[in-house]
Amino acid sequence: MQVHCWGVRGSVPVPGPSTVKFGGNTTCFSMSIGDDHQLILDAGTGVRNIDIADRQVFLLVFSHVHHDHQQGLPFFPAIYFPDRALHMYAPARMKRSLVDVLRTELFDVPTFPALLSDVRGRMAFNELRGVDSIRLPSAEDAEEAARLFGDRWPEMAHYYPRAENLHLASHVSAPTHPNEVGRIDCADNYAHPQNGTLFYRITEHATGHSVVYATDAEAFRGGNQALIKFALGADILIHDSQYTEEQYLGTAPVVQGFGHSDFKSAVEVAAAAGVKRLVLTHFDPRNDDAVVAKHGTRRARPCRHSREGLGGGGSPRGHHLRLLRLGLPSRSRLPQSVGYSAVSMPMRRSRPSR
Ligand SMILES: [Zn+2]
Ligand SMILES: [Zn+2]
Repeated sequence: MQVHCWGVRGSVPVPGPSTVKFGGNTTCFSMSIGDDHQLILDAGTGVRNIDIADRQVFLLVFSHVHHDHQQGLPFFPAIYFPDRALHMYAPARMKRSLVDVLRTELFDVPTFPALLSDVRGRMAFNELRGVDSIRLPSAEDAEEAARLFGDRWPEMAHYYPRAENLHLASHVSAPTHPNEVGRIDCADNYAHPQNGTLFYRITEHATGHSVVYATDAEAFRGGNQALIKFALGADILIHDSQYTEEQYLGTAPVVQGFGHSDFKSAVEVAAAAGVKRLVLTHFDPRNDDAVVAKHGTRRARPCRHSREGLGGGGSPRGHHLRLLRLGLPSRSRLPQSVGYSAVSMPMRRSRPSR
């Protein structure tokens, strides 16, 4: 399982010299799960940099569809190729369906030159509830489904099922289907205006690794207990860190209730959940690299800052920088710093240096 970070800013893209270190794109992460699945988490402006050369099928889960989580989708190359497929999932709790939002907010003349019906890539639209899970089938099963369904693409969409309440079982349970290679569990986050978001916990069965994605989350007093329970023992927690503590507690402007956390709260949630590594993300557009670096490192050391463009890393084809690689458990064997972007901090302290 590898995690890549393509966009770390909240609210609006902030390109410029003061955001070069961590990047200026809005929210987008991607993950490989086994050899079979490429999962994209949100489609902020960073999504356009994902290399589609080696993949035909992508899963895209939206935490929600605020602009900073979907505005990159019209520029994601995969949607324009008829041999590419995109399974999209969005919270059912939105007042409108995902396809309706995309049709009217993103792909509509005169605000964009292409209609959703003009897009040639195959798309499937699914809704998720906080009790749902997506089982990830093996490549063989997926091929069999493709053979069975042929051109009836919308029906194949159901091959990635939803509406399965697996939450009664442990989130870190063994495979629940013989051919299942991984699983995406959902949890409701009510603390984000106006319809909340979904948290995701992605598990790869072969390695037992798990990543929790919790952006646009506002902390509660004592920590978000539902999130702490959901993230228990995860290898990586990707958590909203919009504000500094001073901004979150301040009054100019008042930001409490906007549905975001400060750095300190993210660290508290990660510690309470016993996760191995915390990745801070969704930085406020007011917070330049200096502010992010200062507040990201203050409360937990050691921490790692990777940097855009340094390390000479790129995708295998050399087209796009990979912004963050968090290989597990073979991280030490990966090339050093092949990109950049979020602030990442191990939650287990190494021996203090002298
Ligand atoms: Zn956001
Ligand atoms: Zn939001």
